[in-house]
Amino acid sequence: MTIYLPRDIISIVKMINLKRDPVKYIRDRAKSKYKKDSKCFICGAEKELDFHHFYSLSPLLSQWLKNKIQERPSHYTNEYIVIWRDEFIEDCSKELYDDTVTLCHKHHLELHSIYGRNPSLATAKKQMRWVEIQRDKHGLV
Ligand SMILES: [Zn+2]
Ligand SMILES: [Zn+2]
Repeated sequence: MTIYLPRDIISIVKMINLKRDPVKYIRDRAKSKYKKDSKCFICGAEKELDFHHFYSLSPLLSQWLKNKIQERPSHYTNEYIVIWRDEFIEDCSKELYDDTVTLCHKHHLELHSIYGRNPSLATAKKQMRWVEIQRDKHGLV
C-alpha cells in the first residue's frame, strides 16, 4: 500500500533531514538586530543576560512555512533558505524583534521550566503576563 503525503508534509520531512537546524540560519541572519537590554526585565541583574522570544523561533517558522509551502512548494525548501529567510524575518519582524524580553539566566531558565523548552505560540501572551507579574513581585521587595 502506498501512502501519499500532502506536499507540505513532504517538505517538512525534508527539513527534518537537514544537517543544520534551519532555525540556526534564521537566527544567524536576525540576531544582529536584536534589541538586547543591559539588564534583566524582572530583577535588574546586569550579568549573564539572555534574549527571550515570546514567540519561539521554531514553531513560528513552521507556522509561517505551512502557508508559504502551499503557494510555492519548490521555492520554500531548505536549499533556498538563505533566499527566503529575509522574507520570513520581514513578515515576522514584530515577533522576532518586538515580542521579546531580556532576562538574566536564572529568570530565563525559570520561564522555560514553566512553559517548556520550545513553548507553543499559544502561550506567548501567558509568558508576557508571567514576566510582568515577576517584575511586580521584584518591585515589592
Ligand atoms: Zn532576573
Ligand atoms: Zn527563551
